[in-house]
Amino acid sequence: MDCVFCGIAAGKIPSKKVYEDETLLAFHDINPEAPVHVLVIPKQHISSLDAVTPENSGFVRAIFEKIPEIARLAGLENGYRVVSNCGPDAAQSVPHLHFHILGGKQLPAHIV
Ligand code: AMP
Ligand code: ZN
Repeated sequence: MDCVFCGIAAGKIPSKKVYEDETLLAFHDINPEAPVHVLVIPKQHISSLDAVTPENSGFVRAIFEKIPEIARLAGLENGYRVVSNCGPDAAQSVPHLHFHILGGKQLPAHIV
């Protein structure tokens, strides 16, 4: 499958890893939009939040259970924002479910 995040999860495409276990991977965004910009992905291909089902929602749960630790590992000690873009209106550019963890500065109060 021609999916850049599946390639990163498989170790075929390099990434700056923050955290990895058997189900998920966190790595630095290649084009950061904040001083700290980390992406968290399930290793299994799920195309977006629209494709989350009772059968695969355990990956979403696992990611959210790990986000506080990943944020600490990335050096975020004063808060952070979690975003997931889903579909064209949200400008999703990589069709593999991912959560942006953003921080390291005071972010704007509104995201749109
Ligand atoms: P989105 O626009 O929500 O789909 O976010 C996709 C994110 O993936 C963007 O912030 C990109 O900068 C990031 N990205 C794309 N390719 C890579 C890569 N090879 N390594 C790290 N981040 C990437
Ligand atoms: Zn994928």
